[in-house]
Amino acid sequence: MAKVLIIGAGGVGSVVAHKCAMNADVFTDIMLASRTKAKCDRIAAEIQEMHGVTIQTAQVDADVVPELVALIKQFQPVLVINVALPYQDLPIMDACLETGVNYLDTANYEPKDVAKFEYSWQWAYKERFEQAGIMALLGCGFDPGATQVFTAYAAKHHFDEMHYLDIVDCNAGNHGKAFATNFNPEINIREITQPGRYWENGEWVEIPAMSIHKPIEYPEIGPRESYVLYHEELESLVKNFPTLKRARFWMTFGQAYLTHLDVLQNVGMTSIRPIKFQGVDIVPLEFLKAVLPAPDSLGENYTGQTSIGCQIKGIKDGQEKTYFIWNNCDHAETYKEVRGQAVSYTTGVPAMIGAMLMLKGVWNKPGVWNCEEMDPDPFIEQMNSQGLPVQDRVNITLPHDY
Ligand code: NDP
Repeated sequence: MAKVLIIGAGGVGSVVAHKCAMNADVFTDIMLASRTKAKCDRIAAEIQEMHGVTIQTAQVDADVVPELVALIKQFQPVLVINVALPYQDLPIMDACLETGVNYLDTANYEPKDVAKFEYSWQWAYKERFEQAGIMALLGCGFDPGATQVFTAYAAKHHFDEMHYLDIVDCNAGNHGKAFATNFNPEINIREITQPGRYWENGEWVEIPAMSIHKPIEYPEIGPRESYVLYHEELESLVKNFPTLKRARFWMTFGQAYLTHLDVLQNVGMTSIRPIKFQGVDIVPLEFLKAVLPAPDSLGENYTGQTSIGCQIKGIKDGQEKTYFIWNNCDHAETYKEVRGQAVSYTTGVPAMIGAMLMLKGVWNKPGVWNCEEMDPDPFIEQMNSQGLPVQDRVNITLPHDY
């Protein structure tokens, strides 16, 4: 019997709730809680209708530790899956510590008033989680998440030393909207309007946002213009794999998306500095989020695929070797299965898998961990059977000039 509390009822929270319900042998009791309970109730009704499973719902403000503690004490889960927003990571970790409950999330902590994300805040909880005998698994979505599992899998099975890592993330889908983000617009726009950063020869190289780009060839999709961004898993990967001479993260963006973003930036709509409007303080980016389509509304009629993978070059048995490991996921297929688009799906399914491995005791170490610090094999096995089939190729010419 394993009770799990899912916090956050957006695009990702909905997929996590569906997939947990579809694995009811492991997740015997599910509660979905969020700021707006009506969203939890809508998802619960959908799950009842599609999978015949009843889940509980609740209202909670996850910024408020005592509210979280009261809910956890009432429901008594063994694990909290946090798929609300990065701002809630620390209060939820505090509540887990207070109640002795395990923790999992998909994005690292970000303070609301500074667009800056790094692991230091959450890594600082390591000793306290160890002492409490509970586990926190950080960043267990796709990227971060599966990309670190892919890298750990490459290190375990394919390399003596890894030297070059390129994480390549493509969304070649079409949702038919003029401008929308595939996950929370506020978090997404904060992420991509920051300066880019990659790791080279033992240090971070900072570049103006979106200033390095080139076409990369994606399996079953073809070439797509891809941009170097800073992405949070790079921070833990270069720490845990110190032989890496370079580590970069690439993401595709279409021209229409970039033009919209440019205009929004130029007119000040992506700013996180509060302004006075009709006597009230408002944050332009929060207002923008309110008028953009919600990520969980994009699924219907979304076509095309995502493709996310790791391209690695290094040494095995004294020889140079290249390795490419990836997953392609189809928006229309995921909508059919769980009423979610592929970006929510590729985040929510790994979160469910991480939770499943923790609950089964397969991934079970007190402390605070990133995904590459766990055995990758059982995770990849689950990806193959839970809707995210993994493909790989050895010694193909990678589309990068190393
Ligand atoms: P959404 O905006 O669709 O959903 C966020 C949900 O969190 C909403 O239901 C929202 O409630 C709820 N929420 C926000 N604040 C609070 C609060 N204080 N208390 C309780 N609930 C709250 O976002 P997504 O589902 O797209 O993204 C969820 C998370 O997944 C984000 O952290 C995102 O960064 C992460 N992510 C990770 C990826 C990965 O691969 N690792 C990829 C994509 C996303 P309300 O409806 O009331 O606003």
